[in-house]
Amino acid sequence: MAEQFIDLRSDTVTKPSPPMREAMAKAVVGDDVFGEDPTVNRLQEYAAGLLGKEAALYVPSGTMGNQTCIKVHTQPGDEVICENGAHVFNYETGGIAFLSGAQVHPVQGKRGAFGVAEIERALRPDLYYMPKTRLICMENTHNRAGGTIYPLDLIREVSAFARTRNIRLHLDGARLWNASVATGIAPKEYASYFDSVSVCLSKGLGAPVGSVIAGSAAFIAEARHFRKIFGGGMRQAGILAAAGLYALEHNIGRLSEDHEKAAFLARELAQVKAFDIDMGSVQTNIIIIGAEKSGKKPEEILAALRAKGVLLTMGNYMGLRAVTHLDVTMGEVKRAAQIIRETCGRL
Ligand SMILES: *Cc1c(COP(=O)(O)O)cnc(C)c1O
Repeated sequence: MAEQFIDLRSDTVTKPSPPMREAMAKAVVGDDVFGEDPTVNRLQEYAAGLLGKEAALYVPSGTMGNQTCIKVHTQPGDEVICENGAHVFNYETGGIAFLSGAQVHPVQGKRGAFGVAEIERALRPDLYYMPKTRLICMENTHNRAGGTIYPLDLIREVSAFARTRNIRLHLDGARLWNASVATGIAPKEYASYFDSVSVCLSKGLGAPVGSVIAGSAAFIAEARHFRKIFGGGMRQAGILAAAGLYALEHNIGRLSEDHEKAAFLARELAQVKAFDIDMGSVQTNIIIIGAEKSGKKPEEILAALRAKGVLLTMGNYMGLRAVTHLDVTMGEVKRAAQIIRETCGRL
């Protein structure tokens, strides 16, 4: 990708900074399949602490993190409740069916969040010919809904309900850090309502690779078994884990800058007549832009912006998506806003 583009496609496009690379170069390593990589172990202990869980496990991707957790929680034939737009349902290549043999029971949320009322409608009665409702997955922030924050009162309500019904609860917290910085609610407070949590290091935190899952010691012991089956047992992974550790130590607080950039960009783009932006959904670093009124296909708009040096991507259904991150400055966001207004103002 040529450097002259202002790349707002995703917060996954970030590249490791010089000090992060230095931490990687200096990492003390060992064979992590033997549990002997000191840097991986440090990352796991640090992440477990941040998330208030007994143990954590480093995994190569967020998808492997979620799918490993789902595998530990379920048996083939079980049912997993999640939101219609959930990442685990839409963007993990049918992994729940493929890897766990479980089926998804999606419910419709508001801005990606659902409560007990929605769950009760999806819940299976305890009859031998019905699947067992085993697991509920929640996503915070919710990617497809536009980086929206899961309201804490709904999380509490669902968690209390799930515990009385013996249903497990998993948090897809790929961007939990963004939710935490935006609300001031600690990651461990959010995580306390869940049996397992998955968090990404390679999005807004800027690490090149990796996610962490966390839970009880017994849960993580089982997760380690399935991570190996899924091909995620890595050897001198401390080289990568060092970047994750650096990211956790240095790059969480600054996410507020990404939120400011997104809020600015959303206000600017709301001026474009052909666009529809639900400003209430712009809560962190993602903006979903409806462009149906333009009469143009999203691909055409994306191509026109690319020709001017701005990269966006497809949002949900017919929309466009812009994401702010640590490798795009406020100055570049201002320039992008101007280019988008000029290019799309005439649509
Ligand atoms: C990015 C993301 C993941 C994991 O993605 P990978 O590309 O596999 O690392 C999981 N959940 C959500 C909500 C995400 O945005």
